[in-house]
Amino acid sequence: MVRGYKIATLGSHTALQILKGAKDEGFKTIAICKEGTEEPYKSFGVADEIILVKSFKEVPKLEKELIKRKAVLIPHGSFIAHMGIDEVMNLKVPYFGNKKILEWESDRAMERKWLKAAGLKLPKIFKKASEIDRSVIVKFHGALGGKGYFIANSPRDFRRKIKGHEKDTYQIQEYIIGVPMYIHYFYSPITDELEILGFDKRYESNVDSLGRISARDQFALESIDPSYVVVGNVPVVLRESLLPEAFRMGRNVVEESKKIAPPGLFGPFCLETVVTPNQEFYVFEISARIVAGTNPYIQGSPYSQLKYKEPMSTGRRIAREIKTAIQKKKTNLIFH
Ligand code: ATP
Repeated sequence: MVRGYKIATLGSHTALQILKGAKDEGFKTIAICKEGTEEPYKSFGVADEIILVKSFKEVPKLEKELIKRKAVLIPHGSFIAHMGIDEVMNLKVPYFGNKKILEWESDRAMERKWLKAAGLKLPKIFKKASEIDRSVIVKFHGALGGKGYFIANSPRDFRRKIKGHEKDTYQIQEYIIGVPMYIHYFYSPITDELEILGFDKRYESNVDSLGRISARDQFALESIDPSYVVVGNVPVVLRESLLPEAFRMGRNVVEESKKIAPPGLFGPFCLETVVTPNQEFYVFEISARIVAGTNPYIQGSPYSQLKYKEPMSTGRRIAREIKTAIQKKKTNLIFH
């Protein structure tokens, strides 16, 4: 049924659910692991084959081998972070996703243009520190996991906190007071259907534990700065009356992507938002691929349970799409 195709991915991020989902759909699986990190993929029995590498930078060298094995690569958050955008763009192994969209996703200015054109609300950007007239979050470029980000409340506060990093590239973004909400979507170019598969919020160190220290002690420990290093994900369900807006935003982003990078965004993607007390979604980022926030839902989420009769993780949904494309002879729509 799956005509000898194998599902392959890098052993990290969301590989467990991608490979398990692929096996549930009848594919053989390959995990490419960095030496010393293979144990989870062995222990949980999700990989039919494990290829060991010293670094993910070696992946392009495996290309011939992967093509011979009829592998389809499923990208996740570790691809660009560990291999680099050019290496990913140049891969010749069938790849589930539209590579053209990567350029839009990885450049802050282009990403903003895309989301704005899709009619989404975005936090204001301050071009000059002297313009800061509210709370802002200062984001350094390439700061993996939000390390070093800081909050400032005035131009003076900013100048004090930026000391030593004036030459780095950063963005000054309005700090939206609300709750973070990460929306997991899946868009099928075969059926033109947009699905919502779940929501999560992140568990970030140390910002999620600062509240465990009393205000008095926080003042005393002036040297503690919040950081936003993700160490886990927490499942969330959305207030039901906000669902229509979540669908609208996802649909608009897909439609706009068809204009800017044909054939457009497809497969899993995530809008990273903050929801205000006025129930408005402010989108501060898009991830054009599976996000780690889908990991709590290997057995399916409350939303996938509404739609599917079997446990449907995002990883399994990807494999289902590939299987459907193979059966309908439409792999040209999803392999890039
Ligand atoms: P990613 O890993 O998704 O590329 P990141 O970890 O580098 O991104 P962000 O996700 O941009 O960083 O932000 C880190 C944290 O700051 C998150 O908890 C997010 O909720 C919060 N945050 C980001 N932008 C804003 C904003 N404009 N207003 C309020 N909170 C924000």
